[in-house]
Amino acid sequence: MSMSPKDVVALAKTKGAKLVDYKFIDLPGIWQHKTVPIGEFDEKVFEEGSGFDGSSLRGFQGIEESDMLLIPDPNSVFIDPFMAVPTLSLICNVVSPDKTSYSRNPRYVAQKAEAYLQTLDFADTSYWGPECEFFLFDDVRYDLTQNGSFYKVDSVEAIWNTGRDESPNLGYKIRNKEGYLPVPPMDATHDIRSEIVLVLEELGIPVETHHHEVATGGQGEIGMRFDTLTAMADKVMLFKYVVKNVARRNNKVATFMPKPLFGDNGSGMHVHQSLWKGGQPTFFDENGYALLSQTALYYIGGLLKHAPALLAFTAPSVNSYKRLVPGYEAPVNIAFSARNRSAAIRIPMYSTNPKTKRIEFRPPDSSANPYLALAAMLMAGIDGIKNKIDPVKEGFGPLQVNIYELTGEEKTKVKSVPGSLVDALKALEADHDFLLQSGVFTQDLLETWIEYKYANEIDAVRLRPHPMEFKLYFDI
Ligand code: GLU
Ligand code: MG
Ligand code: MG
Repeated sequence: MSMSPKDVVALAKTKGAKLVDYKFIDLPGIWQHKTVPIGEFDEKVFEEGSGFDGSSLRGFQGIEESDMLLIPDPNSVFIDPFMAVPTLSLICNVVSPDKTSYSRNPRYVAQKAEAYLQTLDFADTSYWGPECEFFLFDDVRYDLTQNGSFYKVDSVEAIWNTGRDESPNLGYKIRNKEGYLPVPPMDATHDIRSEIVLVLEELGIPVETHHHEVATGGQGEIGMRFDTLTAMADKVMLFKYVVKNVARRNNKVATFMPKPLFGDNGSGMHVHQSLWKGGQPTFFDENGYALLSQTALYYIGGLLKHAPALLAFTAPSVNSYKRLVPGYEAPVNIAFSARNRSAAIRIPMYSTNPKTKRIEFRPPDSSANPYLALAAMLMAGIDGIKNKIDPVKEGFGPLQVNIYELTGEEKTKVKSVPGSLVDALKALEADHDFLLQSGVFTQDLLETWIEYKYANEIDAVRLRPHPMEFKLYFDI
């Protein structure tokens, strides 16, 4: 459904909106917003924008050039279900006062990546299906006396560890790694996920399935139907907003951090992706490995070749690398495989329908800015196709075995994902030409990203004594 500014103004009236909320994304990937009374809202804002101070936002302008404008996207309109006063909500692009698009606006990067694809001869549209896993905790606390992880206090382990007295304790706690797929009362967060699904559908985000995930009580997954790149990144932001707010109104707290619990599965954002041309899928070939076309194989080659650099955008937090370790269904090696969940790229084999043929890139997690992460993956895949990067010749597989169980020589042949955010940023410094094609990412954005991550995240963790260090060294 395509909305004009006029339609949006009319909708505001029909819905009795008293306020209009402008939402936009900062560089690291959190939604920001400002709100205006309905009297301040008319069609002009879609041309003229609404001002804000860009100097106070993470990764945006310096103080000397702080005046920025928000231009709402009429197609992003929804009635915000979490605001007490009827409020119309719009997702915005960020522009300079002279109306030029702001190069550090992540949503603009996503739009440029889509436009770039349209100039190429092998495809015109990309489809994306991210699977954002998350935890629903009763509360969070940081326990200095134990192993320094967050504990979810509704698990047996956590009760033992934190000493919280649950009274009465009715049992049916999910043990570590046994959360997939027992029914309630084991699945104690089923009703909250159902409530989230209804809100999502009400907001125009079709859901395909929801279930408890592998980790102990409260880890969940809700599968959204695929969409095009920028539209899907918008949906990821709205999805996280809905999950967090429905959790809050149920007295739970949702987190998308990649690895909140030591010793249990983390939360990934596996991304299913495919390219189409003229309304036809380009990733299917009935004679290819795992029914993949040559285009799909080259796309895989691009993703895997650039994987170390790519992870600087798709697994961009210090915590991401606590998830990317063996033994928790998170990928550790740079390889592709049909069915095998231990490879960075899995080729889902549920169906032989050409239209559903896609690949699943598993390293990403939801600490990513979805606009930048999806755009970066598309750029890597495009680079693979343009330069005919053959994943088999590059030594990326296909692997049929469980990579966690490889030993000796076999194992040394398989490349590993970066072991830390520092390694991923170094890889990005060394390998980023594929992102700069057609000006989709800019040198300035890459430099800002790298600087931001070092100053605000890597050093913030590196300079602080970790609780585990007390356990290891205090009495040395
Ligand atoms: N939670 C796992 C991860 O961190 C994935 C489990 C799954 O295959 O859905 O990637
Ligand atoms: Mg999952
Ligand atoms: Mg998956």
